[in-house]
Amino acid sequence: MIYWSPQYIGGNMSKGHFVLDKLDQVSSLEQEKRDELKNRKPRVYEKIRNFDARAHLGFISPIIRVCWDYTCNFVCDHCCAEERMPRTIRKLVAKNGKADNRYTMSYDDLAKFASDADEYGLYRMVLTGGEPTMWKDLFKVIEILDPNRHLVIMDSNALRIADEEQFSVRALADAGVYKLQISLDSFVEAEHDTFRKMPGSYQRVRKVLPQVIPAGMKLLVSTCLTAGRASTQEFADLNRYCTEEIGAMLYVTYAKPTGSCASHMDWMVTKADTDKIREFEAKGFNITTHMTPSYMRQKDAGSVPLGHYDGCITVKGINNLEPWGDIVPCPYMDVAIGNVLQDPIATILDRGMRIKDLGPQRNDCLIGEDPEFMGRHNTAVARWKIQGNQVPLPWGEFWTDKDVVL
Ligand code: SF4
Ligand code: SF4
Repeated sequence: MIYWSPQYIGGNMSKGHFVLDKLDQVSSLEQEKRDELKNRKPRVYEKIRNFDARAHLGFISPIIRVCWDYTCNFVCDHCCAEERMPRTIRKLVAKNGKADNRYTMSYDDLAKFASDADEYGLYRMVLTGGEPTMWKDLFKVIEILDPNRHLVIMDSNALRIADEEQFSVRALADAGVYKLQISLDSFVEAEHDTFRKMPGSYQRVRKVLPQVIPAGMKLLVSTCLTAGRASTQEFADLNRYCTEEIGAMLYVTYAKPTGSCASHMDWMVTKADTDKIREFEAKGFNITTHMTPSYMRQKDAGSVPLGHYDGCITVKGINNLEPWGDIVPCPYMDVAIGNVLQDPIATILDRGMRIKDLGPQRNDCLIGEDPEFMGRHNTAVARWKIQGNQVPLPWGEFWTDKDVVL
């Protein structure tokens, strides 16, 4: 694993920005859950222990979102992945007349990445896209990532899990999926189905959710927060349902001015919304964003901690692996810090942490709240697209060696 000076990843220890991750500091509930992991997945447990012992020294072990294929059966307005989807790329290629000749990763490439990641000490792989149940080779991808070496977590809109035996909750648990992260964007049926533009979606989600924990998997309900929603009765009801009825963590993502969402500036949350989320958290609901305290390690509710760092988690807490091998340091960005077909993941993460935009601790959201960065990012992306190219911008087009300064 790579060592980082604490000032770059966690801020000042004396100011409480750090999370000290020693096993003797976890609660008895957390300890019980880790013991379970020790028996079920000793290699994962070993990596978590190694990370625990050294996180406060600056070692990182981010989640990798494995975007193996961006195909999706939904067309949501708030999607940040639409421009990466085959259906959209086909349209863009036809419009621009410039072919998309990018190489896509093979199974051997993925296997090499999984081994490098394991060696580095990464232990969480999130299958996402797109919709993973649309992948014809979903089970093959799970096998390559290896549930014994990594916690394989899967995002889903639940439609095919509810409808198709092949992807049933049981089948996913048997394949080694550790946790399901199901999207539910309103506890009011009509609102969810309208937001997701998919009649019947809500009922499918409600059918799947109560099956997940009894099947032996962990469960997270993922919801997109738009302006004003945090103060509604609907949101309070969803919180109660997750915490009290199904025992799930409610993971809140804020609508960001990127991707399809760029035309919905009215959806952007305000400080009143984010304060309200912290209020729910303070009242003991199982709710988190990756910017609030529950995302960090000591939270009793999670079986394995969701994250480790306070504030923005670019590189240190989250990275996308794109179908073309690019590593993008935030799901809402369109610019890469490297490509696993060219460099080992260790080199890429090392480089990312040394980029001034990304390495140092910060409490605000770089892509949602920093006008200077957003302007720079969006201008570069627009220029790239006008030239008929597809996102993400590869390493060397936005960030270059000149940005590796820390
Ligand atoms: S289900 Fe997810 S990936 Fe598919 S369109 Fe909706 S937000 Fe995008
Ligand atoms: S830039 Fe924003 S969305 Fe991305 S990791 Fe940081 S806080 Fe999260």
